[in-house]
Amino acid sequence: MTTLDELPIRDDLRGLTPYGAPQKTVRVALNVNENTHPVPEDVADAITASLAQALRTVNRYPDREFHSLRESLAGYLGRGITPEQVWAANGSNEIIQQILQAFGGPGRSVLGFPPTYSMHSILAAGTGTRWVPGRRDAAYAISPATAVAEIAAHRPDIVFFCAPNNPTGTPLSMETVEAAYDATGGIVMVDEAYAEFAAAGTRTALELLPGRPRLIVTRTMSKAFAFAGARVGYLAADPAIADALRLVRLPYHLSALTQAAAIAAIAHADRMLAMVDEIKVQRDRLLTELPRLGYEPLPSASNFVLFGGIENPQRMFEQLLAEDILVRDVGIPNTLRVTAGTEEETSTFLETLGRIG
Ligand code: PMP
Repeated sequence: MTTLDELPIRDDLRGLTPYGAPQKTVRVALNVNENTHPVPEDVADAITASLAQALRTVNRYPDREFHSLRESLAGYLGRGITPEQVWAANGSNEIIQQILQAFGGPGRSVLGFPPTYSMHSILAAGTGTRWVPGRRDAAYAISPATAVAEIAAHRPDIVFFCAPNNPTGTPLSMETVEAAYDATGGIVMVDEAYAEFAAAGTRTALELLPGRPRLIVTRTMSKAFAFAGARVGYLAADPAIADALRLVRLPYHLSALTQAAAIAAIAHADRMLAMVDEIKVQRDRLLTELPRLGYEPLPSASNFVLFGGIENPQRMFEQLLAEDILVRDVGIPNTLRVTAGTEEETSTFLETLGRIG
């Protein structure tokens, strides 16, 4: 047996920690912000039929430009976004990796605003891109002035925003995105993984795309869309961005089965998203009930809640796990993060917390 240290691995990867949300089989899994409602049976049947069709030609490589899927996704996004402006990959994680491969890399840097989605810095490390942690203001917000100051100080090649921010739930003002775009000559990415959970009328960076060829908005089917296991993420941007990603992507990176499953799911978007309102009800219940139990939840426009006021998060995590409930310790002192689940899962979590807290 050899240890990692003994292998001739790149020096800059030594000592790093891989992505590591624990994967455990538990009764109530509220740790990775999935949509915990299963895919409706009739939609699952439609997806199965689409897969069966695709299997007949699985001896051939898939459409490496995934034309049909891009058409479906553009139709889903609306707002006049064309298929040429859409690009997809195996989860938005792969999209972010491709962005870093094309626009980052050795000798280049990406500015992010921690605490934020852990994969932003992990993918930076994996692609040899220097990660520059920017400041946030009070309550984890990023003002336009702060974004501009951080860009002026660090001159990054790429700026990563996350709206709403995981794990804090903090919204991002579009003025900040506009100011950041004007302040940098680099790429500005807005990770909108949780966009569908926002209140009606919330602004999205999709609105800012016209006239901004260096802006990229990423989305995913893993959250609201109840499709995490299928691995489909996508972006909307100027078509030239897809030209850049074509230079770094693996040929045929999206399997024919992934494409077929995603197209069938998007054709039933209304059913796949039917649970989003219910999840928002459960999120709001967490926001109301947690203070009654003595905790301090941060406001959230997503499907998760970060709550503070915990003396010993590690102990509470273990106590919940002993009751077959999995939440997430994101490393912010005195906090834990919990996903809004079904009504029953949310009840189990709240009742257990009340008992052990
Ligand atoms: N962005 C954010 C902010 C996330 O929280 C996640 C998943 N936790 C992702 C991207 C990646 O999701 P996926 O690769 O499943 O699309």
